[in-house]
Amino acid sequence: MKFVDVHIHLSDPDYSQKVSEIVDDARRSNVVALVSNSMNLQTSLLCLQLAEEYPNLVYAALGVHPWNVKSLSPNETQDVINLIFQHKEKVVAVGEIGLDYQYARSGKSLDLQLQVFHEMLRTAEKISLPVIIHSRETAPKIMSLLPSYDLKKVLFHWFSSKFIGLLSQIVDRRYYITEGPPAVYSSGIREIIRRIPLTNLLTETDGPLRFGGPFKGEMTTPSFIPLVVKAIAQIKDMKETEVADQIFQNFTDFFGVKGVSDKRHEETTIGI
Ligand SMILES: [Zn+2]
Repeated sequence: MKFVDVHIHLSDPDYSQKVSEIVDDARRSNVVALVSNSMNLQTSLLCLQLAEEYPNLVYAALGVHPWNVKSLSPNETQDVINLIFQHKEKVVAVGEIGLDYQYARSGKSLDLQLQVFHEMLRTAEKISLPVIIHSRETAPKIMSLLPSYDLKKVLFHWFSSKFIGLLSQIVDRRYYITEGPPAVYSSGIREIIRRIPLTNLLTETDGPLRFGGPFKGEMTTPSFIPLVVKAIAQIKDMKETEVADQIFQNFTDFFGVKGVSDKRHEETTIGI
């Protein structure tokens, strides 16, 4: 079985001394793709560097996260956009981008969030890249904004059970969602997984963010992914291998990534 972690923050300071450990851990767990999501310019540069260092394993998603809009330097958003265009062969998605009402309440201006989000969506449209979206409390608002853009692929990361009513619209528009470790212990997330077709689902850890349930107190690593797949298989009453295969297929469909190698068949190249 091959697994994928399509939303991890390898450039996060909490991982800084441990990236090689995380990568080894992914390989041991047969996690064959890690999509490293950026937050700002500095992490975008780091994600590119990591993608270079670990080809066919680490993939770079570049963007400006809504949590970072207040701390951006004057040209930072434009610098990230320039970086995306300069490295368009390497960048697999624009992310992590989005809106967060909770952060808006704690002083991260919603106007600024919206401005940066629109700039990121425009960039994704221009360069025909998928988008990875953070939508805490904002999924309905974001759903209303997206049709103004001609976006190839849209992924709502860690889709919240609060907006479970939007799932049918998400499926109709052929968007994807990701779920992670809470699939093992959260009834709300398990209900989403029960309702979403497997063809619209991907797996993530959002590491180094830490989780509860059986993961309490543990450092989040890609080794959690096989447990997420196991939980999905239980919920959907399917075999784990069928779930892993479909999610891997979703990964190649979504990111258009070639060259992911199977540990057991090093020469095998998976096309799209
Ligand atoms: Zn994230």
